[in-house]
Amino acid sequence: MYGSGNQPIIVLKEGTERSKDKEAQFNNIAAAKAVADSIRSTLGPKGMDKMLVDTIGEVIITNDGVTILKEIDVQHPAAKMVVEVAKTQDDECGDGTTSAVVLAGELLKQSESLIDSNVHPTVITNGYKLAAAKAAEILNGMSVKADDKRVKKVAMTALTGKSIGGEGDYLSDVVVKAAKSILDDGKVNVDNIKIEKKVGGVIRDTYMVEGIVIDKQRVHPRMPKKVENAKIALLAVPMEIKKTEMDAQISIHDPTAMAAFLAEEESTLKAMVDKVKAAGANVVFCQKGVDDLVQHYMAKQGIFGCRRLKQTDLEALAKATGGSIVGNIAELTAKDLGNAKTVEERAVGAEDMTFITGCSNPKAVSIVIRGGTEHVMDEVERALHDAIRVVGVAMEDGKVVAGAGAPEIELALRLSEYASSVGGREQLAIEAFAKAMEIIPWTISENAGIDSIDSIIKLKAAHDKKGGKNFGLNLETGEAADMLELDVVEPLRVKTQAISSATEVANMILRIDDVIASRRAPPMNPMGDPNMGGPGMGGIGGMM
Ligand code: ADP
Ligand code: MG
Repeated sequence: MYGSGNQPIIVLKEGTERSKDKEAQFNNIAAAKAVADSIRSTLGPKGMDKMLVDTIGEVIITNDGVTILKEIDVQHPAAKMVVEVAKTQDDECGDGTTSAVVLAGELLKQSESLIDSNVHPTVITNGYKLAAAKAAEILNGMSVKADDKRVKKVAMTALTGKSIGGEGDYLSDVVVKAAKSILDDGKVNVDNIKIEKKVGGVIRDTYMVEGIVIDKQRVHPRMPKKVENAKIALLAVPMEIKKTEMDAQISIHDPTAMAAFLAEEESTLKAMVDKVKAAGANVVFCQKGVDDLVQHYMAKQGIFGCRRLKQTDLEALAKATGGSIVGNIAELTAKDLGNAKTVEERAVGAEDMTFITGCSNPKAVSIVIRGGTEHVMDEVERALHDAIRVVGVAMEDGKVVAGAGAPEIELALRLSEYASSVGGREQLAIEAFAKAMEIIPWTISENAGIDSIDSIIKLKAAHDKKGGKNFGLNLETGEAADMLELDVVEPLRVKTQAISSATEVANMILRIDDVIASRRAPPMNPMGDPNMGGPGMGGIGGMM
């Protein structure tokens, strides 16, 4: 920008960084590709895991795209946009996060040569939009009905490649059972499943419970271990005498006064138990402390009690048993009580937990996860969570497609036919889009140590034949095979969503031709790593 005297007019604050046109585009594309590259090696059943260490030294070992991207500290704005794709995919489907990001990176990579040869970004984005719409149509045409058998296979497919010690078959039964139990009005909300983890045992000791499990034991050994026809009081208040905030002292000089004082305390505590008993409760779950004396009285009355429950546990119990959480024991009545067939303390490994089963709400479901270490259990939890979501999606929509690269190869072929029917300059963009689809089978194959070029050739040859549209890559043999027969299936929505969000972010990035960035405050650098927080890829470079 020059004024009349050829003096540059400075509009932007000193230190503002600016890049324009192709430079801006290529920078953004490079950043987006770097995000995709950072998780590429985890794609597919033979993908590798990543170990992530956060600033306080907590370790996560995972294979899950969105978990990786959520943990690493991405700085570049375009890279951040790509991370958002993984989050959207996760919110919508619970799976396909790596695929969505890898696709976004590849769509951008394929656009580079078009930008280089001066195809206008608008033409590219239009072409991509047309291609994405056509892709959704083709995928829908490929989809088959999600019957019971296929739903289980969807769980299996979602679980392959997770670090779950080869227990995919066992866990997929748990997943399907859980998803079915919470199916409500055609929808599956995984948040309705309560997860408890107890270290020890092996992954196969993981199981589902129809009811609520809380990681608490009864407070007194003389309380019953098991209560049938439980009437449950849910208390948000302590069952003890309130201690004052200040260090108050009461001086009692007369021994009879002392006795009276103690008796008074005792009767207050006893009154609490009497009140609970009078309301008809035989089980008490208390969010706060329970006095020793109260424990003793409860045990005498045959009441089962747990203390210091998490608020979320209390809420889950309220929902499951139909009870209300009460904030004042004096106001407790019979109609506040929740109902369950049994409340029982049972051993989970070396410790005991409390199981509330036969709840009035049959959709209350818990999963007890076992495993050798916290890291194993955490990855099992993530895997189950995602798989239940995915199975839920398959049950909600009732449509699945073959996996293992089959849909992507079909799209690559059908879309390039479509490109020639569209013609014009958009044709180039649709061809680039079609080519980008190949990145999925390419990467799955690469990660399995199979020659990617060979794989793509074999897959294309199979798809060119009649009845070959469901052929994907059999990673055991390196040959193309019908994935509906091999039971590698995924919900249709996982595929369509991955493509639509990848297209959306690629287009958004392609439309940017000017990046104006204010100077950042010096980055916090907690790990003392000079690569962290710098310009460009920041955290990605530091972490991977
Ligand atoms: P994402 O985060 O995208 O779900 P995954 O690591 O779960 O990434 O890999 C998903 C890809 O792996 C899909 O394309 C899926 O079809 C493919 N896949 C899953 N199971 C198999 C299998 N047994 N053989 C070949 N490919 C598989
Ligand atoms: Mg997956």
